Amino acid sequence: MTDEVGVSGRVYSCPCAAGCGGSCAAWNAPNLWEKPSGQVGEIQMGGSECEAVLLRFPGEDAALLADLNEKKLLEILRDRYREHRIYTYVGDILIAVNPFQDLPLYSPEVSDKFGSQPLGSLPPHIFAVADRAYNSLQGNPGKLSQNQCVVISGDSGAGKTESTKLLLKHLVRRSRGNLQLGQQILQVNPLLEAFGNAQTVMNPNSSRFGKYIQLRFRDGAVRGAKINEYLLEKSRVSHQDPGEKNFHIFYSMLCGIPEQEKQVYGLLQPSLYRYIGSEWEDVESRECVESYQRVCNAMRMVGFQEQEELDLKVILSGVLSLGNVMFEPQENGGVRVSPTAMGWLKAAAGQFGVQEEELLSCLTCTLSMTRGESIRRLHSQQQAEDSRDSIARVVYSRLFGWIVCKINELLAGDMDMGKELQEIGILDIFGFENFSVNRFEQLCINLANEQLQNFFNHHIFLMEEQHYKEEGLEREAVAFSNNQATLELFLARPWGILSLLDEQSSFPQASDVSFVEKLNTTYRENPLYERGRGCDPAFTIHHYAGKVKYCAEGFLEKNRDTLPTNINHLFINSVTSLISILFTANISRTGTLTPQQRAKVKVSQEKGPSRKISVGAQFRHSLAVLMEKMYAAEPHFIRCIKPNSLNEPSLLETQTVLNQLRYNGLMETLRIRRDGFSWRPSFQDFVRRFGILLLTPEIELSRESCVRIAEKVQLTGWHCGKSRLFFKYWHQDQLQQCLVKL
Ligand code: ATP
Ligand code: MG
Repeated sequence: MTDEVGVSGRVYSCPCAAGCGGSCAAWNAPNLWEKPSGQVGEIQMGGSECEAVLLRFPGEDAALLADLNEKKLLEILRDRYREHRIYTYVGDILIAVNPFQDLPLYSPEVSDKFGSQPLGSLPPHIFAVADRAYNSLQGNPGKLSQNQCVVISGDSGAGKTESTKLLLKHLVRRSRGNLQLGQQILQVNPLLEAFGNAQTVMNPNSSRFGKYIQLRFRDGAVRGAKINEYLLEKSRVSHQDPGEKNFHIFYSMLCGIPEQEKQVYGLLQPSLYRYIGSEWEDVESRECVESYQRVCNAMRMVGFQEQEELDLKVILSGVLSLGNVMFEPQENGGVRVSPTAMGWLKAAAGQFGVQEEELLSCLTCTLSMTRGESIRRLHSQQQAEDSRDSIARVVYSRLFGWIVCKINELLAGDMDMGKELQEIGILDIFGFENFSVNRFEQLCINLANEQLQNFFNHHIFLMEEQHYKEEGLEREAVAFSNNQATLELFLARPWGILSLLDEQSSFPQASDVSFVEKLNTTYRENPLYERGRGCDPAFTIHHYAGKVKYCAEGFLEKNRDTLPTNINHLFINSVTSLISILFTANISRTGTLTPQQRAKVKVSQEKGPSRKISVGAQFRHSLAVLMEKMYAAEPHFIRCIKPNSLNEPSLLETQTVLNQLRYNGLMETLRIRRDGFSWRPSFQDFVRRFGILLLTPEIELSRESCVRIAEKVQLTGWHCGKSRLFFKYWHQDQLQQCLVKL
């Protein structure tokens, strides 16, 4: 066999390897072999071998195999993986098995080769998916083309983020637009990863936020990009489970900043900081120094001003100092800062640019207004510690939001100028999670996954059925597991889980227990809900990927996400200008604050707190906005698979992979895709694009012309509906090849 992405064309032996002379079943399998052509390669037969230029090798597209089942798919993936063929198609869905080693698959030469060859003439590859999206974006002359979106899913460590980077790299290279902008799009990544990624037990570089990158094009050239971030795991700032670490930036900063410069930020030695924990290891220093340099370079490239960069590091140091503030109970029922921790309080106040006494007051008591009177309630030790941690978390998450805002400002390009832009969106979002203890964060993540699964079902199954029906095509109903009811269980108003959570969160007297009781009574009859057993507040949901038991402890507090009273007021008035910006409601898109804006914010603060939106409601909203964008686009799916739990190269564990195939919905997809017609152009679109194949000057945009075109290129197995044609996914590749040969 020749190289997988070789430049020399793809000459393969007939799979029978028995000198069939062109008569065996494999040789004649439809759509596997390109017909002999002097342009692409000569077919050679005789002796003990048959050779031909191959369009798709059996196994490259699992959906083509007649006797495909779970075991067979696993075998195909395993055999291909053994030969470093990590990509396999199931119809037009790409399966990517993480190689856990660098393979020579992504060089600029390979990228160029993919860009210049007709679709389908090269082996399965992530670049081919990028090309498909890019080509579809171009649409047809005179017609506004449809936006595209690429949905990348998979377990933690399966390779979603690496795949995203590869897609971006290829698209930027292909589009050849504004070179500088293209480079910037690729170069912001170290910054995003430094602040948003961390080492977990699953993945040493795990993304702790979801993202949707919108790449915008005009006339085929990249004109701008926008990053949307979802659900940063901010609890990590103050707490990490055993074997896990805080966000990368803390380590690279502590290692990378030269000793003499550290005092500028008030940074001490790493082992002193509680939030860094025992996971600090000096051995990694060199890597940290390098990553710190990359982050600094990225910050400069993004256009951080010197003062902003300085503030940012001071604030991060402030978060670490704050984490070391400890409390002791007092006789009056309140707490005081432990004498040994007074220095840390002073340091944190200095780093955040606020008065020490005021910060202390935010930590140790709650102020509330009742009938015009201000009432001061002292905190217990637990409450003081919670306040400390929630301040650290909110500072960090707003810092992250601000960085994304700055990045978007840089990448905005000339997007706002008049003419409509086309868009390819890439979604890299956490996969389904089912741990031994599942909390509010898992509930949100799994809701996002239900929504994505629903989108997938909608696209693959429902659209297909509906279309056949509308177009008068006779076909059996497609059976699949619809998860609409689960989505409703979460999202319905007013009785869905998120609504009930909001309702309970708004009652000061409500607790996690009363929330679960409310769920128990509301969903008594719901087969997707099970009440928890044992004494802790818990409940179980039947997700599309299996049952998950949620521990409801902390749900209300996490959903309310209340900040210590007065913290907003305190931080808005900080002398550290970046802190003040972070705590100003609705920061202008530029991430900076004019004096007028500052004044306005102060006035609104004095008028009293505005109603806060819960975390659940915010998430519901951002998910709805995302889904709206995705439903308006043509989707492409990449399913990443983690071959083993040790993150080792060349090791594929059968059970690990099987589990992922099942809850990725791949088995069901396989069946549907193989049987279905995934490409359905209208008569007009089809003639506009392929009419040239008829070689006549005037062609009507009609049904008859379509039939003539399809017959001329001898397509088989397609159907004609009332307004459109129904093709198998490979027909498009065949037609594209005919265009190339013209
Ligand atoms: P998470 O959900 O935790 O963010 P993920 O799905 O984004 O996980 P990645 O961070 O993309 O996973 O991949 C994990 C690791 O696997 C990478 O750091 C890299 O070492 C390896 N990896 C993934 N894809 C590839 C690839 N195509 N080639 C080489 N190595 C890869
Ligand atoms: Mg990731």
